[in-house]
Amino acid sequence: MISTFSAKLVEKIQLSADVFSVTFTYTDSPLVFLPGQYIIAHIPSGTNSVRRLYSIDTSPEQTESFSLLVRHVPNGIGSSYLHALPLGSEVTFQGPAGLFTLKETDRPKIYLATGTGITPFLSILRNQLLHPLVPSVPQTLLWGLRTLQEVYYTEELHTLEKKVNGFTSKICLSQESTLPDQNGFQTGRITTALPPLLDLYKSQGEFYICGGKDVVAALKQYLLDAEVPSDSIFFERFT
Ligand SMILES: Cc1cc2nc3c(=O)[nH]c(=O)nc-3n(C[C@H](O)[C@H](O)[C@H](O)COP(=O)(O)OP(=O)(O)OC[C@H]3O[C@@H](n4cnc5c(N)ncnc54)[C@H](O)[C@@H]3O)c2cc1C
Repeated sequence: MISTFSAKLVEKIQLSADVFSVTFTYTDSPLVFLPGQYIIAHIPSGTNSVRRLYSIDTSPEQTESFSLLVRHVPNGIGSSYLHALPLGSEVTFQGPAGLFTLKETDRPKIYLATGTGITPFLSILRNQLLHPLVPSVPQTLLWGLRTLQEVYYTEELHTLEKKVNGFTSKICLSQESTLPDQNGFQTGRITTALPPLLDLYKSQGEFYICGGKDVVAALKQYLLDAEVPSDSIFFERFT
């Protein structure tokens, strides 16, 4: 059930030029949510408030606080408000909401994220540090960003690869022509890295897509063209 609650901003970290993380502590009881769900922030605007949706990137097991990953949209009401918000400020939220959660099946799971579309997958994967999937299934994350400067959380992705059974990830950099001397990077868009996964999982895998609406539409169409059944494709559009 959706409830209204307030939370206090306790940490803000700039992760790249335009993406920052905000952590809030609950002022009352913790939110009960499923990994992959989002909350609705009430953003003061003039004499009213506007609502903006943000996926939660932490595990529900983290009961003191929750975090969001926000892309600062120039002149955007909600993202600029959160970007400028002083530590200690309280924000009103509603939640939890959304159906972009993992299906409890034994099918391999492919996560396709662009930009801050990584957020629900972080919650899903961080939660598995405490609650591994049973049975363990292959899980692959392809995360699309433009340049190396936009990348964050690489260390954590490596840790998740070590600790979450069957999980691998690849960061696809669409505007880089050479690769850093590290594993886990690939030049090009997500679709460059998809064919081997489609060969393996096209018929039995579940495909979860999250990002801006145009990218989600393009990736969904790509999967449909590759004959992935439409009932195996799940998506969350950020705009
Ligand atoms: C289910 C759901 C979950 C979401 N989760 C997240 C999340 O985890 N992290 C996150 O950063 N955002 C997320 N969003 C998007 C978020 O709700 C806001 O839309 C976003 O922060 C922009 O709001 P704003 O008030 O700053 O900009 P607005 O004031 O709404 O827009 C200002 C201007 O920027 C344009 N604009 C708006 N968004 C974008 C964009 N993404 N790219 C380019 N131009 C844009 C608008 O068209 C407008 O012209 C989510 C959206 C949905 C629907």
